[in-house]
Amino acid sequence: MEFFEITCLVIIVTCILYIYHKRKSQRKISDFPSKYPADKIKNKEKNHYDVAICGAGPAGSTCAYYLAKLGWKCLLLEKKKFPRDKYCGDAVCKTAIEILIDMGIYDLLIRENKAHVADSGGLCSPGGLSYIGRSKEVIGEIPAAIACKRLHLDDAIAKAAKRIGADLQEEWAVNEAKFDNSAGLWTLYREGSTDTLKARVLVCADGSPSRLATQLGLISRPPDSTCSRAYVEGGTHKFKADGVVFYNKEMLPGYSALFRHPNDELNYCVYIIPGNPKVTPDDLKHWHDYLQTNDPNINRALGKEAKIERMNAASLRLGGENVSYGHHVLIVGDAAGMIDPLTGEGIHHAMEGGKIAALFLDEAIKQGNYDSDLMKIYHQQWMNKFGFDFKWSMIFCQMMYRFPILLDASAAALQRKGDKFLAKWADIMTGRVPKIYMLKPEFSLTIGYELIRLLIARYSASTKNQNKTQ
Ligand SMILES: Cc1cc2nc3c(=O)[nH]c(=O)nc-3n(C[C@H](O)[C@H](O)[C@H](O)COP(=O)(O)OP(=O)(O)OC[C@H]3O[C@@H](n4cnc5c(N)ncnc54)[C@H](O)[C@@H]3O)c2cc1C
Repeated sequence: MEFFEITCLVIIVTCILYIYHKRKSQRKISDFPSKYPADKIKNKEKNHYDVAICGAGPAGSTCAYYLAKLGWKCLLLEKKKFPRDKYCGDAVCKTAIEILIDMGIYDLLIRENKAHVADSGGLCSPGGLSYIGRSKEVIGEIPAAIACKRLHLDDAIAKAAKRIGADLQEEWAVNEAKFDNSAGLWTLYREGSTDTLKARVLVCADGSPSRLATQLGLISRPPDSTCSRAYVEGGTHKFKADGVVFYNKEMLPGYSALFRHPNDELNYCVYIIPGNPKVTPDDLKHWHDYLQTNDPNINRALGKEAKIERMNAASLRLGGENVSYGHHVLIVGDAAGMIDPLTGEGIHHAMEGGKIAALFLDEAIKQGNYDSDLMKIYHQQWMNKFGFDFKWSMIFCQMMYRFPILLDASAAALQRKGDKFLAKWADIMTGRVPKIYMLKPEFSLTIGYELIRLLIARYSASTKNQNKTQ
């Protein structure tokens, strides 16, 4: 009897703690007390910034753009001088394009021939099945993707943030940030100088190494992986489509891709995605070179005369960090691991994350509270929007690695169903709809049907071979 009573008591206490925790984690911004009521007065003459952002990549500049648009005094610090390069595949997908349109810079990038609208694209499966479709007619006005060099893209977003009122300071590398609890302010220290600046809230948007957030003790692990980039000179290759993803069986779930830029230039990238014990980030150079000559599809697409620049590479922080907030501080973009582990792509999530952070901070500043528990709401917002989907991506990566035939079946399904199916496939791969949509009958039955056909075909081919050799 005593045992029964103790068990009941433990269950009841656990339930109460669970409900308390749930309620606490579902608190709204307005539930928190106002600690800095004067903050809500929008005044550019304040002697500190409302928000200081470290890093003017797509995440930081988008965050700065929307904060400045909402009238807050916002500082955007960038260690390099624009225009500056960033190693990337340069594929910018629809979610990011929508934000570029909202900022009024999309048309300019196209008009100035700094971006190429992707129309024809698709994939080559590990078993050699391919589908290259067209998207313009299926998708409508806003394209599925564009290719835009980061030299142009990041410059355009940062300058848009500046035009709308953010204080962009280039060649201002943040060396350190210290928080003064009594004043409720951050002091930012410039590398190699005695310059300092003050702000109420700090946003770490310094890319996948996440140096500042690591220094502050918010991030504790290094980036997961790495990716290569090499530009291919226009007129020297044989590639005719706008964007193709090549899956090679030996390096799954990683892949390589070719994206077309204006003037027939190409971007050749190899993404190492964790999950295959035989392929590590240290092997990137090997795979980058190996696929060019040994993958028949890439080899054919590049041709014998292709002039390819030497390989460049940068790190990837995949799948979302468990914590992207702290007392008076948020982390956005690659610094918070906002890269989809299925694709290694993150420009659209960096921009979406930057916008979510700005809209969240608008509410927090009006409330005058930046406690860690309140900042956690931002983390929940981006996790709900796209972060939880990364968990499905990781499962799909494992499935691709263990059963490459699933990609062959998907390519066969694309061949049979055509461009509408390709558009829906692209929506899933770029996170516009949740990955779990793959389990909808429309996908699972179609791919399942092709899977059975492939299995039967391969079985009968292998029995024929066996009979021949006997
Ligand atoms: C080779 C490669 C290919 C990729 N291909 C694609 C692709 O095709 N499509 C896609 O969507 N994604 C791709 N990605 C991912 C994409 O590059 C990132 O998701 C995106 O750049 C994230 O933007 P961000 O603003 O978070 O970080 P970043 O773009 O890294 O920007 C961080 C900024 O912070 C600045 N900074 C850093 N430290 C400091 C400091 N101390 N003080 C001041 N400034 C600082 C940096 O100079 C930089 O400007 C690729 C990544 C790699 C490595």
